[in-house]
Amino acid sequence: MVIEAQQSNAEANQQRHPAHAPDMPIVAVIGDGQLARMMQTAAIELGQSLRLLASSNDASAAQVCSDVLLGDYTNLEDVRRAAQGADAVTFDHEHVPNEHLDALIAQGVNVQPRPEALIYAQDKLEMRKKLQALGAPVPPFARIDSVEDALAFWDQVQGEVCLKARRGGYDGHGVWFPDTREALATQVGELLEAGTPLMAEEKVALRGELSAMVARTPSGATQAWPVVESVQRDGVCAEAVAPAPNLDVALRQQAEELSVALANGLGVTGVLAVELFVCQGKDGAVELSVNELAMRPHNTGHWTQDGCCTSQFEQHLRAVLDLPLGDTHTTANYTVMANVLGAAHDPAMPMNKRVLEVMRRYPKAKIHLYGKEHRPGRKIAHVNFCGEHLEATRNAAQAAAHFLVHATWPEQSSEQGE
Ligand code: ADP
Repeated sequence: MVIEAQQSNAEANQQRHPAHAPDMPIVAVIGDGQLARMMQTAAIELGQSLRLLASSNDASAAQVCSDVLLGDYTNLEDVRRAAQGADAVTFDHEHVPNEHLDALIAQGVNVQPRPEALIYAQDKLEMRKKLQALGAPVPPFARIDSVEDALAFWDQVQGEVCLKARRGGYDGHGVWFPDTREALATQVGELLEAGTPLMAEEKVALRGELSAMVARTPSGATQAWPVVESVQRDGVCAEAVAPAPNLDVALRQQAEELSVALANGLGVTGVLAVELFVCQGKDGAVELSVNELAMRPHNTGHWTQDGCCTSQFEQHLRAVLDLPLGDTHTTANYTVMANVLGAAHDPAMPMNKRVLEVMRRYPKAKIHLYGKEHRPGRKIAHVNFCGEHLEATRNAAQAAAHFLVHATWPEQSSEQGE
């Protein structure tokens, strides 16, 4: 038996794509964006390797992986080919059709997270219903199948309506705040006509936004990260500050416990990000409400690459492979992550020159570029900055990101940073 096993191992190693080290795990990642790219960095350090299902050879993650399969994640055969021989299959986005994942699982493939959990990251209405059933705080919401449904909801929440596409939204695309009954009726009419499934929820009085992240293994082990503040501009995450400053201890604990309870309650495996609203309740008290779930590494977890014992990318790989989870203590008082979003007009100074200027001015800045071409508003990089004092750390992270976007320094930025 032992000899047979050794022989088949040897055969398997001979058939291996040279990208994969002998006897080390292979993780198939469906998706080719910056999240998959940064999983590759973690995989390298762990001696593991990725197989990527990518849309093109120059996609962000395809640039840095050696085993790249070109294909379409909505095509079952392509997903099947990517999964072949992998120890686990995971994702950098939530859009693979669940029936494909069911087919893979039926074939014995180790898909993590499972489609039963993923549905709650794919459909905002299903997510709201499930969270309510689990007793998690959510704003009042309704399914919107007609203009009449929308108008009834408008009356129910006294016009404080946030309308959302149930599926496919990102960075604020698919979220609307109509300010009159007529505007709501017109918008709902048009969206339903165009075939967009809708839901509506109460527009909450936002005091801020938090992100509570946790990793969970198929065996049920969980490890949470410190809760961070996420600063949004125009519906897009601009900054994450870890740990969330000035956060009431009870709210911090509630957020962290909620993330673990949801990971367990939904059976999530890998990394789960719980996006939370801090809002003013009817009685004036500050309370939490869940906004959204992501079942993969998340933008608000990028700070862990430089400010935490275990990064979200390493933890995701450990979790989907059911390995022991890493420690999540911070390694600095504060870590600020600032996103670099393509400017309206790309500055004449090339990116490599901008990087050089930031390196000169801020030796402590950790720059993470995604290998993407400029497009207005596109996430093309982020900067992590660790430091002792919040304001100085934040200013330095913002200034570095600002320079990468505009090739100019903001007026208030200091020469040394933290
Ligand atoms: P996406 O899936 O595009 O990220 P979100 O549902 O997270 O969309 O919404 C984007 C932003 O819109 C949020 O970060 C928040 O600032 C605002 N928003 C969303 N829902 C509400 C709401 N119910 N009340 C107030 N603001 C909201």
